[in-house]
Amino acid sequence: MKCLICNKRITSKITFSDFFSRRNRFVCDKCYETFPIHINYNFIPLEKYGLNIYSIFDKEYHFKNDPFVMETSKIFNYLYEKDNNSIILLEKKLLINEYSLNIYQKIANINEKNIFIICDYFFI
Ligand SMILES: [Zn+2]
Repeated sequence: MKCLICNKRITSKITFSDFFSRRNRFVCDKCYETFPIHINYNFIPLEKYGLNIYSIFDKEYHFKNDPFVMETSKIFNYLYEKDNNSIILLEKKLLINEYSLNIYQKIANINEKNIFIICDYFFI
């Protein structure tokens, strides 16, 4: 498999203990170091409900594909198992301003649920 960022071949050591538990990787070790994952959590209160934001990076990166989809899916699965009665949205780049907050507030009120957003990067 090739790295979705640098397009180099991904090699990984296979040992007897992890032979049956190998996972698919879309990013090589060097790119993991170049684009370090730092999961941030932010909470923005809405009228009755809350907007919970999980961002994967501290900085904005421009990836052609979605190389960190495995990390996003892990957060998604964690949130779904923790509270499967909320709205979970996936965004690449999230802009929080008065307009978008108004929309999220309406979505929360119509559905009567908290909103969780998983994004690569968010800014206000
Ligand atoms: Zn790479």
